[in-house]
Amino acid sequence: GKGIAVFTSGGDSQGMNAAVRAVVRMGIYLGCKVYFIREGYQGMVDGGDCIVEAQWTSVSSIIHKGGTVIGSARCKDFREVEGRMKAAKNLIQRGINNLVVIGGDGSLTGANCFRNEWTTLVKNLLDKGEISSEQANKCEYLNIVGLVGSIDNDFCGTDMTIGTDSALHRILEAVDAIVYTAYSHQRTFIMEVMGRHCGYLALVSALSSEATYVFVPEFPPPEDWESDLCKRCSEEREAGQRLNIIIVAEGAVDRNGNPITCEMIKDIVEKRLKQDTRITVLGHIQRGGNPSAFDRILACRMGAEAVIALMDATPNSEAIVVSLNGNQAVRVPLMKCVDRTLGVAKAMQDKDWDLAVELRGRS
Ligand code: ATP
Repeated sequence: GKGIAVFTSGGDSQGMNAAVRAVVRMGIYLGCKVYFIREGYQGMVDGGDCIVEAQWTSVSSIIHKGGTVIGSARCKDFREVEGRMKAAKNLIQRGINNLVVIGGDGSLTGANCFRNEWTTLVKNLLDKGEISSEQANKCEYLNIVGLVGSIDNDFCGTDMTIGTDSALHRILEAVDAIVYTAYSHQRTFIMEVMGRHCGYLALVSALSSEATYVFVPEFPPPEDWESDLCKRCSEEREAGQRLNIIIVAEGAVDRNGNPITCEMIKDIVEKRLKQDTRITVLGHIQRGGNPSAFDRILACRMGAEAVIALMDATPNSEAIVVSLNGNQAVRVPLMKCVDRTLGVAKAMQDKDWDLAVELRGRS
């Protein structure tokens, strides 16, 4: 059977375990040897106990768990060719030439880079006598399928990344909890949510919690946002509201690209409106807890499709990501998605807000 390895890389997200489980079980079902790689690319470089064969039961009772049971890491070594050479050796010695990488755009870019230099790595290892020609022949090509695990929904090419829905649940629980205390004391609450480059969590949680105002990175508020914000807050109070909720994405900026922070907003609301104002930074709570039903099912479907895509791979097929399009699991070219994702980041850097919104919307 074919050798497949699955690993999680970059920031963890709820649903990664469900994806790992689906890859393992679909792989075994189709007669493959499936391996876990612990601690992301670091485990691939280190080898040894970090790469272990998975059994059907090794993924029992993990579908409901948050985070990733096989660990995730950021790995400097893998950014260097020496590190990738070690990683290639560890894979080839175990007969693994199919990878399912579950991570964000950085992890997927790393995987693509690895795949592009694979032939050279195999040749060098063979020349050095670190692998046998039989091992080299078995692993002549490297097939890669990516699954996007990220709570931010910051990847172009898929409607939803694995973890986003659960993070939204966490955020809404927190906002709903805050609303009662805000109501009691007629307070304004400023809540910071994750999303350094992507306003999805902020926007969707603002819409679904009836927030007064939202700050996102791709679509900065009007030039004179201070007055606009105060006008909205006071209008709501005059209409009989006892509270205001303001949602701020971590990466919120003004039209000149300068950060808009919770402290700045608090200062303005307190000074101009004399409202009792508090800040709540949700932080890692958003990544915590169990995955939602949506994320579990999404991850299961993506994981199963990833293995089928690996079975279909030919030497000439490009690296792909399995993504969600409407209600369909579809295969899309990995680098096309990465390039589009980088395009959004560049548009934001260039302060071309129309383009940023357009590109983000097209994802
Ligand atoms: P998140 O969105 O949660 O940050 P990510 O996958 O984008 O997830 P990164 O820290 O960018 O997270 O990448 C994870 C790891 O992938 C890096 O630590 C590194 O080992 C590897 N990696 C990223 N980019 C590259 C690259 N261009 N070449 C080789 N390896 C890379």
